Amino acid sequence: IQRTFSIIKPDATKRNLTGKIISKFEDAGLRIVASKRIQMTREQAEGFYAVHKERPFFGELVDFMISGPVVVQVLEGEDAIAKNREVMGATNPENADAGTIRKEFALSVGENSVHGSDAPETAAEEIKFFFSDDEIV
Ligand code: ATP
Ligand code: MG
Repeated sequence: IQRTFSIIKPDATKRNLTGKIISKFEDAGLRIVASKRIQMTREQAEGFYAVHKERPFFGELVDFMISGPVVVQVLEGEDAIAKNREVMGATNPENADAGTIRKEFALSVGENSVHGSDAPETAAEEIKFFFSDDEIV
């Protein structure tokens, strides 16, 4: 059993898609073991996306991530990291498979509705960034 970290991004919370996205996770066999809706600060968003600091879209990404509330979650299940990325679909919705979250809901490569950890190390770091152990049950 594995855990991964997920963010439902501002483009999705603004359009009232939180429930539909959570259903996709649950239908794929992922269990929501922690969840909270927060307004990220600029400092949090910059820290969370620090690996992308040198990328040309960094400023745009941070502005977008603080443009409205997000829902941060811990998802648990067999192969949770890979399974979640499968359910999310490709970063660019134009390249995402049918039935994936990004194909159905994303607006663009930037406003792409969800984030999901890409490896066990990043999953552990990202979970710790937003949750204490006692918040995960
Ligand atoms: P995430 O890390 O959010 O799960 P990802 O791993 O599929 O997505 P990354 O390459 O890690 O994609 O990029 C992180 C985020 O930065 C993307 O989800 C997207 O919101 C934004 N992003 C990536 N590429 C671009 C781009 N070319 N223009 C604008 N924003 C981008
Ligand atoms: Mg990524």
